[in-house]
Amino acid sequence: DGATATDILELAEAHQVRFLRLQFTDILGVIKNVEIPSSQFRKAMKGDIMFDGSSIAGFVRVEESDMLLAPDLSTFQIFPWGDPASRVGRLICDITMPDGSPFVGDPRGALKRQLAAAAEHGFVMNAGMEAEFFLFKSADDGRPGTTTHDVGGYFDLAPMDLGEDARRAIVDALELMGFEVEAAHHEVAHGQHEIDFRYADALRTADNIATFRFVVKQVARQFGLFASFMPKPVFGQNGSGMHAHQSLFKGGQNAFWDPSREWSLSLTALHYIGGLLRHARAMCAVTNPIVNSYKRLVPGFEAPVNVAWSMRNRSPMIRVPERRGSGTRIELRTPDPSANPYLALTVMLAAGLDGLRTEADWREPVNTNIWEMSHRERRRLRVDDLPQSLHEACDELEKDEVICGALGDHITQQFLAAKRAEWTEYNQQVTAWEQARYLARY
Ligand code: GLN
Ligand code: MG
Ligand code: MG
Ligand code: MG
Repeated sequence: DGATATDILELAEAHQVRFLRLQFTDILGVIKNVEIPSSQFRKAMKGDIMFDGSSIAGFVRVEESDMLLAPDLSTFQIFPWGDPASRVGRLICDITMPDGSPFVGDPRGALKRQLAAAAEHGFVMNAGMEAEFFLFKSADDGRPGTTTHDVGGYFDLAPMDLGEDARRAIVDALELMGFEVEAAHHEVAHGQHEIDFRYADALRTADNIATFRFVVKQVARQFGLFASFMPKPVFGQNGSGMHAHQSLFKGGQNAFWDPSREWSLSLTALHYIGGLLRHARAMCAVTNPIVNSYKRLVPGFEAPVNVAWSMRNRSPMIRVPERRGSGTRIELRTPDPSANPYLALTVMLAAGLDGLRTEADWREPVNTNIWEMSHRERRRLRVDDLPQSLHEACDELEKDEVICGALGDHITQQFLAAKRAEWTEYNQQVTAWEQARYLARY
């Protein structure tokens, strides 16, 4: 923090950094890089590196394609792998127009706008995300497959579990890059893992998630494994979520905590929950943005299916972990790791702030297992279903002015166009399931 261009140039020199990756994400959450050699470092620090925005999904038309990368100097890191005599560093960048104004289609910019809206009311958003992922064996031809390294289960007495070793190496790499890893463990499914790192302000956490996904994939490859953040890679197995823990702070104090109230939750927390509930269906398109996301949001796999909250139970969409005091927070369990972390945090914060502004009704927490309730019981408790497909989620997003407003017109339109096209293509497919079920019968 507070690093100047000179500090970074000195660090780069001292650690033999020969290349710098200028990193940003497109609207679909894919990391993009412009890599520059050391002769260009000085120019890059000044935000003077131009790139062609028309080649990036959802950015701009060809006619208006020149854009600049404005590095956030506090994000400088050196990748802890490769030849020590020729290291690669990186800086996360904002995207600006040639006149220096922020580019409206930059996801990081959308999050910054929403954080500024929160700051107008004195709020800082803190967030921590639990990204789950799978480690698969790379097939012999190098193509990704879904065979895991640990399918042997308890009969497999092999002394070495490749997945566990890879996960330890991932944690080492993350720590060398300044992450404070709090826990790393095997998840429920074969080959599924989770690594949790310390929460931070929302912008830093979005940066961290983007970096995290990149580091996991890089290190896995060094072990001959393939890491995937696809939400539901294997039928019949738990999918991968990206539970988002969030809280608002005001004047250094956790604004969600109020020991004098029921559950020790402040009115701010309850209205924030009310906002998340109100916009839950529209947010899905952003927090669960691919066709496959909706294969995860089905009953029986620890993923949410309904719009509800609970103090303890893990079946609903929102859970309030037991922690109080400065750790008081809300856990939204809907998001999955295919989401663009900047846009996911943007829409969650926008929903929460709308809840505060309108003093949204938070309804009653549902402390029984929703998965076991009848349809009628859910109706009575006003428990809605989450969207069941990307198509339905897009319809919901389009109707929600608060969420579209937070994304801005440019991102909303580009995002919806890409997602509608993805849905149309998917909808034209004839799947193996359909052939198995119908071919002989009809
Ligand atoms: N994998 C589950 C999901 O899809 C979460 C499991 C857990 O962390 N308890 O969200
Ligand atoms: Mg966890
Ligand atoms: Mg988990
Ligand atoms: Mg969790």
